[in-house]
Amino acid sequence: MAETTGVEIQLEGVTKRYPGQREPAVDGFTMKINPGEITIFVGPSGCGKTTTMRMINRLIEPTGGRITIGGEDALSLNPDDLRRRIGYAIQQAGLFPHLTVAQNVGVVPRLLGWDKRRTRARVEEMLDLVGLDPGEFLGRFPRQLSGGQQQRVGVARALAADPPVLLMDEPFGAVDPITRGNLQDELMRLQAELRKTIVFVTHDFDEAVKLGDHIAVLGDRSRILQYDTPEAILANPADDTVAGFVGAGASLKQLTLLRVRDIELSTESATATEDESPAEVRKRLEASGKTFLLILDSQRRPLRWGHIRQVSGDSLAGVGTPVGDRVSTQSTLQDALEAILTEGGDAVVTGSRGEYLGTVQLDTVVAKIRELRAEHTS
Ligand code: ADP
Ligand code: MG
Repeated sequence: MAETTGVEIQLEGVTKRYPGQREPAVDGFTMKINPGEITIFVGPSGCGKTTTMRMINRLIEPTGGRITIGGEDALSLNPDDLRRRIGYAIQQAGLFPHLTVAQNVGVVPRLLGWDKRRTRARVEEMLDLVGLDPGEFLGRFPRQLSGGQQQRVGVARALAADPPVLLMDEPFGAVDPITRGNLQDELMRLQAELRKTIVFVTHDFDEAVKLGDHIAVLGDRSRILQYDTPEAILANPADDTVAGFVGAGASLKQLTLLRVRDIELSTESATATEDESPAEVRKRLEASGKTFLLILDSQRRPLRWGHIRQVSGDSLAGVGTPVGDRVSTQSTLQDALEAILTEGGDAVVTGSRGEYLGTVQLDTVVAKIRELRAEHTS
């Protein structure tokens, strides 16, 4: 695991009153944000997420309260200096339309006075990091990019000066669901390497569960309704409002947080390699009282499920029905459940070389959900 490069952020009694508004938009917001984690602010539109986030880099000046970033008093710093030390990515990327990709990504390094060569090298490194080929993209303008590519450039720009803190305000809100999924996966991959302190705003609870180490569910005026890990919030919402926000299927959402490696695999299924004699295999099945078997190739990779009645003749070649989607130990339990439902039976788990490791049974998945619930409600 990479070292944490992020720093802790503390907000104490942070309040924002917009001129002419009777009620504050954010009222006495107090929170400690862990270094090196992704912390999500999730809540309905207008609840104050953007206002709260923008007070951290002082794009919006707080009316009251204290903010420290890595122990430093953010409100006593020069706001321009502060903003150069905090990456910021927003919906629709917010790229400068008249600047090339290279110029967009290099904005903060240039403001920091980096020379041309260092800036150029950094820009190329950042484009690589977000999966864009520098040779192809450096000279393009934002309008020549797809939505997903613009968003990647936005992330590259936010990371260019290697800030310890990254603020992301609904950054993937404007792209199609498939691109959004890819961008989320990439952010998680990046973060495993970079370990920044990321504050991420969304109104999509599923996105919060997928990305967050901690989630703050916010209500009106950024009141914190619950601040905990996704696991704990899903298992035990603090009140009806949070429960409503978590939505239906909280238990099923928990399955996206668990991996096949977190559960014990069943090795109950009978197996046979394709080159074994059907008579021998049949004897073995009868002795163990099993009706089904999994037929493997010579490298123990799963091929087909067979019924004892099909085990006859002089070879197992072609016997049974092909195994459908396999899952790996890295797959989520949701993937495993999907495989169980489409297969109509146990999900077959394979290792890195495709070799058979065991199966996941429906009962195991159900038991795991129950166990989680018990843990979080006791
Ligand atoms: P969110 O990001 O959760 O949708 P915002 O932080 O943008 O919420 O807004 C919180 C509240 O503050 C809303 O009621 C909004 O109308 C109000 N607000 C936001 N910006 C301003 C502004 N510049 N002037 C006055 N009211 C504002
Ligand atoms: Mg907003």
